[in-house]
Amino acid sequence: MPLLVVRDLKKHFPIKRGLIQRTVGHVRAVDGVSLSVDTGETFGLVGESGCGKSTTGRSILRLIEPTAGEILFEGRDIRKMGSAEMRRMRRKMQIVFQDPYASLNPRYTVRQVLEEPMLIHNLFSTAAERKKRASQLMEIVGLSPSRLDRYPHEFSGGQRQRIGIARALAVDPKLIIADEPVSALDVSVQSQVLNLLDDLQKELGLAYVFIAHDLSVVKHISDRIGVMYLGRMVELSPADALYSEPLHPYSQALLSAVPVPDPEAKRDRIILQGDLPSPSKPPTGCPFHPRCKDAKDICKTVVPTWEEIRPDHFVACHLYS
Ligand code: SF4
Ligand code: MG
Repeated sequence: MPLLVVRDLKKHFPIKRGLIQRTVGHVRAVDGVSLSVDTGETFGLVGESGCGKSTTGRSILRLIEPTAGEILFEGRDIRKMGSAEMRRMRRKMQIVFQDPYASLNPRYTVRQVLEEPMLIHNLFSTAAERKKRASQLMEIVGLSPSRLDRYPHEFSGGQRQRIGIARALAVDPKLIIADEPVSALDVSVQSQVLNLLDDLQKELGLAYVFIAHDLSVVKHISDRIGVMYLGRMVELSPADALYSEPLHPYSQALLSAVPVPDPEAKRDRIILQGDLPSPSKPPTGCPFHPRCKDAKDICKTVVPTWEEIRPDHFVACHLYS
């Protein structure tokens, strides 16, 4: 049984107008996303900004309430849980945010940042135990416990993200949603944080949903990857297969932007035409058709179905149906 199963997840935000705030339409930020994550697995979720990947991550944790769909964690639908049960469940599912500056309370010392989730979840009964755990967490993420009484601004960007990771680990989660955890960091620091996440996964058996806007970041860390476009999943496959043979024209374009170390193997860059359309007014048929180099007539009117082209390799595109 997978640790997490998401079926047909939707999050539609109402668009309100006028004095009485009448609903005039909906932004279909997430429009029918399905995925699963096994224990100890990393699922990479990739797409341009505005494609709904962060909303998907937050909806999975019910930090925002989904409009529809099932979210099964260890086989149980968390959307059917009441608040007390949901609070217990939250211990097992944590999030690491993109911006370590904004996500740490500047008035808290690092010790307070790390102890807050322990207090919320009643993990230890004494201050000494909490302090011991906080020190241990600092060591786990490669920071000196001697700095526990410092404030977040006294740390570098990469160190602050380590604190964000330590805070997520404070309650012993099984799944971490990592929402672009390295994109606010200098390139030189990114790989250190990625390596840390990888090591923690191996040691603690963590599962990750790793959200990123480009394929180069998730390449080495992901077991499987889902590519999102305008609130929908357009391709889902084992990571190797997506890099060696991307099927969807959008995945091909994303992949063409990833630098390759071997200049002989250089891929031609596919430049996407036009901008990402508004999710409040998605194009008819295949949502990618206005920007697709391979679009046919049928693409303008008929939504492509989700097909398994090879074992575990799914795509929604008329080129394959
Ligand atoms: Fe392009 Fe058509 Fe495939 Fe959409 S369905 S990605 S428009 S070829
Ligand atoms: Mg891994």
